[in-house]
Amino acid sequence: MENRKPRALLINPPVYDFALFDLFLKPYGLFRIARLLAEAGYDIIYIDALDYRDYATAGVLKKPKRNANGTGKFFRESVSMPEVLKNHAAADFTRGFARYGVLQPVLRDKIDRAEPDIAFLASGMTYWYQGLREAAGIVRHFYPGIPVIVGGIYAGLMPDHCKAQTGADRVCTVLNTSILDDILRSAELPGVPRGGDMPVPIVGTGFWGDAAVMRLNEGCPYNCRYCSSGILSPVFSPGNPEEAFRQFEELYQTGIRNFAFYDDAFLAEREKSLVPFLRRVMESSCAPSFYTPNAVHVGLLDRDTAVLMKRAGFKEIRLGFESSSRDFHEQYGRKYAAGSFNDVVAMLVSSGFRRENIGVYILAGLPGQYVQEVRDSVKAASSEKVRIYLAEFSPVPGSPLWQACVEASRLPLEEEPLFHNNTFFPMEWAGFSRKDLQGLKDEVRESNRHLGAG
Ligand code: SF4
Repeated sequence: MENRKPRALLINPPVYDFALFDLFLKPYGLFRIARLLAEAGYDIIYIDALDYRDYATAGVLKKPKRNANGTGKFFRESVSMPEVLKNHAAADFTRGFARYGVLQPVLRDKIDRAEPDIAFLASGMTYWYQGLREAAGIVRHFYPGIPVIVGGIYAGLMPDHCKAQTGADRVCTVLNTSILDDILRSAELPGVPRGGDMPVPIVGTGFWGDAAVMRLNEGCPYNCRYCSSGILSPVFSPGNPEEAFRQFEELYQTGIRNFAFYDDAFLAEREKSLVPFLRRVMESSCAPSFYTPNAVHVGLLDRDTAVLMKRAGFKEIRLGFESSSRDFHEQYGRKYAAGSFNDVVAMLVSSGFRRENIGVYILAGLPGQYVQEVRDSVKAASSEKVRIYLAEFSPVPGSPLWQACVEASRLPLEEEPLFHNNTFFPMEWAGFSRKDLQGLKDEVRESNRHLGAG
């Protein structure tokens, strides 16, 4: 190691699931670490096991269909459903299970050639831990002596399970510059400057592919009972618009044109962060396409902001509608007054957004939720002729609603995160069955079919 720079291996693992769509799915936290390490003199070896362009895999598996905006499918390989799911699946459950990403021998080969001094692995949904375990196992196989560090959503929500499954040396529920510095120094590797904020993610096309993700603000000022935001980012803080613009410009200069915001609360304190950021974009000569896959708060949208968003390059806008039921909003979050949705849609249309480019998320499958409530919500959104997305609920360990989920579910949620998978419908009950859910999906498909291409 004397004659070369220290080498950090960063891995975005494969995913095992019933379905997977790339709606700007990028390892944002891993790319922040990459910037810090690169600035501290490390060589960064990034292995994206979800790389949809991998040449060797494309020779074996069907090439994934991708869209011009940087979304699309991943490589998919059918695999057997885990035994624990088989044992609890209803007799008529027919969904196929798959491994998404580059072929395992390809992943092994890439890791074999990396020769790292330390490895960092990202984690996503709790029920995706199989892919993380696979990647960590390969790293351990080739490099038994190097530190393996895991962070991300699953690590943050289920650190003990994560440690047991991956054998990681360190599972980070939070990560800041001081913790990262400690990790590096205890491995006798060069440290990073302590005390500052985590930086914006690294730039470079080798990392991003055909779309980039950004985050303007950290955290969310609301505390919806079903959400993980309060656990993973407990404090809301508005972002620095100048810094966000610099990051955007850096990425834009590499040729990226599609940008998705990962914010939990994109519109919160918008006069401090979003509005000045959008003005800077409009003053520049850049012509980006912006997206909000996480949805924005209905109650925080006003006409001036909507007009600015449209002019700055937002191609669509997704709203956290959740439900048309007043009781729902009283019970779960009070994010907006239930009756105000139609006015917000009218305002967006008058701001220049076409109805087919207005998307609304409707939550389905909460504990004790009746199918009729979701049906009413679908009807309300459908009457506005906007695009509907059913957000099928996954129980979130540690969230205020977790205990109610554990008690209401027919599945042992605390024992096995694979049961959190929304395709397995963990909160199915007499008032909302899988058949009901399928009926809702058909209604949504029918409603969306009447819209334009978007
Ligand atoms: S507003 Fe959205 S991000 Fe914030 S707590 Fe509620 S669901 Fe989570």
